[in-house]
Amino acid sequence: MTELTLKGNWNYPTAVRFGPGRVSELPSALEELSISRPLLITDPVIAKLPICKTVQAVLKKAKIKAGLFKDVKPNPVGDNVSDGVKAFKKGKHDGVIAFGGGSALDAAKAVAMMIGQKRSLWDYEDVGDWWTRIKPAGMVPVVAIPTTSGTGSEVGRSSVIVDLSTHTKKIIFHPKMLPAKVICDPELTFDMPARLTGAVGIDALSHNLEAYCVNGFHPQADGIAVEGMRLVNLGLVKAYKNGRDVAARSQMMAASAMGATAFQKGLGAMHSVAHAIGGMFDTHHGTTIAVMMPYVLHFNRQAVAERLGRASAYIGLGRSSFEGFVDWVMMLRREVGIPHTLAELGVKPEAAPALAERAAVDPTAGSNPVALNPTNLRQLIERALSGRMT
Ligand SMILES: [Zn+2]
Repeated sequence: MTELTLKGNWNYPTAVRFGPGRVSELPSALEELSISRPLLITDPVIAKLPICKTVQAVLKKAKIKAGLFKDVKPNPVGDNVSDGVKAFKKGKHDGVIAFGGGSALDAAKAVAMMIGQKRSLWDYEDVGDWWTRIKPAGMVPVVAIPTTSGTGSEVGRSSVIVDLSTHTKKIIFHPKMLPAKVICDPELTFDMPARLTGAVGIDALSHNLEAYCVNGFHPQADGIAVEGMRLVNLGLVKAYKNGRDVAARSQMMAASAMGATAFQKGLGAMHSVAHAIGGMFDTHHGTTIAVMMPYVLHFNRQAVAERLGRASAYIGLGRSSFEGFVDWVMMLRREVGIPHTLAELGVKPEAAPALAERAAVDPTAGSNPVALNPTNLRQLIERALSGRMT
């Protein structure tokens, strides 16, 4: 891939400007949405990095006065959203720049949604038709700029926010939470630490992989998912080893957006369990997913073996079989330094029953290709705690 071919304008699933250096186009993206006083929402770590200064310099050069809100936790909580709404109103802002990894993007999207709403955030959880309670007129426009390549939240229609009263991760959903404009600039990920690159990259893989494994006729999602996985195969280890490999960084940023596009089809047990563990132990989402991945593949084996064989052939793995696919996953995990067990993440064995109960009611549980219940989830979690695949 030459640098020239790494550039593109996409309108699927939203307006995406993709390519190295394109963060310089932020002022025109804001103008297209009639935003003149944006609130830049990010997390405290990103706020200190040179990439945040880059964005602020781009805004300053265009004489755009932007506020900064950076009180977003690694697993954002309800208060982060309400504090963001307060900052937005205090600064009389008229739109949001969502800047950062999944946590910052999710918090920023929730803030933009909540500006003109009357109810509490939890009344908009993705349960049944609760999303219809949201008044679209009360939402403000968002330009999303991802700085990691994992969640793909920039092209997603939901946010994951932790409800501290129950220590559970709740999904807040509305179709219009899909950011109106997205700038994917792979150069923003050049300085992302290798460990984070590996963990969020496997999260991007998991979104493509779990969507692909969901039962049901959704050839669009399946097509996106297999190409997303192929890009992970091309880019993940290279991006981990050399953060300034622009082709590898571009492949991973595209794979991340593709994963979130594909998972409109659904996710599965990797996410059901990772959400439960993240809510209880505050573990890193991508790392938790990466630990769980091979255990879940074995758990789902009967339902997914044939289609993973097909995917292996397309991705270009040595062996076109379930075993070949799992070996590839194990190799990726090793190459990017992911631990093998949940115990190594600090998950306590005695928590397994409670985690299984929570995972069973996670919104992603229903689409796992093998039906989940607290009993089989507990077995799955216990295997992942001890390192046994079957
Ligand atoms: Zn994920």
